[in-house]
Amino acid sequence: MKTYEKLLSIIVPCYNEEESVPLFYAETMKQEQYFHDKNIEFEFIFVDDGSKDATVAVVKALREKDERVHLVSFSRNFGKEAAILAGLEKAKGDYTVLMDADLQDPPALLPEMYGYIEEGYDSVATRRVDRKGEPPIRSFFARRFYGLMRKISKTEIVDGARDYRFMTRQVTDAIISMREYNRFSKGIFGWVGYKTKWMEYENVQRVAGETKWSFWKLFLYSLDGIMAFSTMPLAIASLFGILFCVVAFVFMIFIFVRAMIYGDPVAGWPSTVCIISLIGGVQFLCLGVMGQYMSKLYLEVKDRPKYLVKEEF
Ligand code: UDP
Ligand code: MG
Repeated sequence: MKTYEKLLSIIVPCYNEEESVPLFYAETMKQEQYFHDKNIEFEFIFVDDGSKDATVAVVKALREKDERVHLVSFSRNFGKEAAILAGLEKAKGDYTVLMDADLQDPPALLPEMYGYIEEGYDSVATRRVDRKGEPPIRSFFARRFYGLMRKISKTEIVDGARDYRFMTRQVTDAIISMREYNRFSKGIFGWVGYKTKWMEYENVQRVAGETKWSFWKLFLYSLDGIMAFSTMPLAIASLFGILFCVVAFVFMIFIFVRAMIYGDPVAGWPSTVCIISLIGGVQFLCLGVMGQYMSKLYLEVKDRPKYLVKEEF
């Protein structure tokens, strides 16, 4: 058997992907020859994120045929971010690549990605230039989210960026070294830095099964992203406080002067109610913002494992 100089770990988070996994494997193996010629061996790491279908059995069947197939199976669904981390931790490769099981990350791009690594880039990232086949309302909110993130976070988070990434060992280790519980990969990749090449491609629809992201799930995920990579909401809360103090002070002087000149007829009940309820509302809003950060802090402090493994090989 041939021994190779280098190893490429292909990490695939899978949640209910029994139909996609064999298709993914077949499609990716088409690229094997190219890497074989470059003296690079493949290693597949399928991370089963608590699937309820036969994903684990399907991966085991692949293993029967191919020794290079590995599995990490979670005790329950921990989310894609945890699956990515588990895959990166298990990977032994000199290079790693993160790919979705549904073939939305075309394996045909792998040689080009490696080409950039050979040129000296540390990581090759991808972004899709369009959002074909996605509900317009989802695209609209996605765009707003990235626009907002650009304004309020110092970490670069690119619109349309996918998790499809080719990385050197150095970058992989850097990502693993980030031990936070609330993981937002798009931010983590930007935060670690290194020389990154961006490749663009047109959106591809998934081959089988359906997306795991509901609108609501995406909305909550975007809040996670904002809180993990920006403290701007806290600053805005403080600004509200300052603003209201200034307004109150000016108002106080105004009332004082008016009372000196015109006396103090009891009136203005409606305006008082309006002001009190407005300020009350803003207070609760700010308290809520603080509470959100605190709840994240709470989870970080508890330092629970990011995933639990039921089975692996
Ligand atoms: N995935 C996962 N855990 C989850 C949800 C998704 O591991 O809780 C995997 C899923 O199997 C797929 C990838 O993450 O390989 C992307 O998911 P999906 O295609 O549903 O997302 P989309 O491409 O629609 O953003
Ligand atoms: Mg997908």
